[in-house]
Amino acid sequence: MLLEGSKVLITGVLTRDSIATSVARIAQQQGAEVILTSFGRAKRLTERIVRHLERPAEVLELDVSKPDDFVALATQVEQRWGTLDGVLHAVAFAPESCLGNGVLTAPWEDVATAMEISAYSLAPLARHLSPLMPPGSAIVGLDFDGSRAYPMYDWMGVAKAALEATARYVARDLGPKGIRVNLVSAGPLRTLAARSIPGFDEFERAWASRAPLGWDVGDPEPAARACVALLSDWFGATTGEIVRVDGGFHAVAIDRPTA
Ligand code: NAD
Repeated sequence: MLLEGSKVLITGVLTRDSIATSVARIAQQQGAEVILTSFGRAKRLTERIVRHLERPAEVLELDVSKPDDFVALATQVEQRWGTLDGVLHAVAFAPESCLGNGVLTAPWEDVATAMEISAYSLAPLARHLSPLMPPGSAIVGLDFDGSRAYPMYDWMGVAKAALEATARYVARDLGPKGIRVNLVSAGPLRTLAARSIPGFDEFERAWASRAPLGWDVGDPEPAARACVALLSDWFGATTGEIVRVDGGFHAVAIDRPTA
């Protein structure tokens, strides 16, 4: 049991397909107690997902665009648990103008929203929750390769590059407290967030013809397992790292020749 006795806060559970839903399920199976966060009207959806988990989990309010929510969340977690061993950041959002060839046209207000929700939010999450986290605890975030330009991903790609840089700086600052900060860079997965990316099918085709291990866009389990592993002490000396769980897509330059 990788997370026996651990207390883990998990953001980003929205539907059964959410990567965070698989993380919550596997974390519980690995012995963790879990608190979820959700926000506004989405909270009812998250509470519905909880019924499909093996053990109950409370759902606390967190809209990462609301600074007061972070303060209230830290207070509530402290009241319930006192300490916290793990945090999953699985939050992303970009207005429509930012996706699908929007890099030259999206207005700054929309770009700012994408950056705030998808990249900056890691910093306040770490700032408010790290005082509850003892040495040996871990923060894990979900990433999609921010090192290259992809079709249609546009400002979300820029936000992911910013998330990667943010994770490195947060790792630098929390390392001396013994808190690890890492990202899992997953291949494309059919979730609600993915459905908002126009031309998502192109990602599916590209991964199918290039990833050496192959890739199933309907299976978030490999990415979720990597998150749980990074939350555990099996990665006790790893921080500021990006673990790619993409079937090996990043490692090869061109598609496999067709037979
Ligand atoms: P999802 O739609 O299930 O999850 C996105 C989550 O972000 C939702 O739970 C939503 O409620 C939350 N969110 C949006 N705005 C928020 C706000 N203001 N405050 C708090 N929460 C907010 O989709 P997912 O694919 O499971 O996404 C989870 C993470 O995984 C994201 O960071 C995403 O970029 C990343 N990721 C996804 C893929 C993919 O192909 N689906 C690949 C790699 C990485």
